[in-house]
Amino acid sequence: MKKQNDNSNIATVYIGIGANLQNPIKQLKQALDTLNTHPELKIIKTSSFYRSVPMGPQDQPDFINAVCQLETQLSPLALLDCLQTIEKQQGRVRKAERWGPRVLDLDILMYNQEEIHQERLIIPHYGLRERNFVILPLDEIAPNLQLPDGTLITSLAENIEKQGIERL
Ligand code: ATP
Ligand code: CA
Ligand code: CA
Ligand code: CA
Repeated sequence: MKKQNDNSNIATVYIGIGANLQNPIKQLKQALDTLNTHPELKIIKTSSFYRSVPMGPQDQPDFINAVCQLETQLSPLALLDCLQTIEKQQGRVRKAERWGPRVLDLDILMYNQEEIHQERLIIPHYGLRERNFVILPLDEIAPNLQLPDGTLITSLAENIEKQGIERL
């Protein structure tokens, strides 16, 4: 029988949000609004917005990035489906070019302390440690967060490159 206050299957997750087309600040605000309105998701914390130079192809606008902490009962794959649906709703068109311009990118950075290596899903996100536009906003909202291997976000933040990123 399901207990009424059974919250044991609520996961704490961190999502990375990025955009560099069609008024990226507006895109981030709209995505946060959609995430929070979703019946299966609850936003606990949101970082400031950051402006960062693009990774990869340089002939594209700067990115606006943020991260948020969510609680959800969705499984990791169901959460990925949900995030990809939101990307599509906001007009993201998947292109062949890697790291090209986009109206919205939603990545799962962490899902509890889980380590997942599936075809569609790698958690923690494979680029997390190296990306200042992920580490700096994460350090803002969750400095004591640890990766599954014990690495503290705040120690990654201390050592990461701080050129090319500005907190707004
Ligand atoms: P990067 O993954 O380097 O940040 P990207 O965000 O531009 O680049 P996408 O085209 O948005 O890459 O996603 C490609 C695929 O990555 C998705 O279809 C998804 O199945 C897969 N993927 C693997 N791990 C994750 C994750 N943790 N969060 C989101 N997508 C993931
Ligand atoms: Ca909600
Ligand atoms: Ca990404
Ligand atoms: Ca992505």
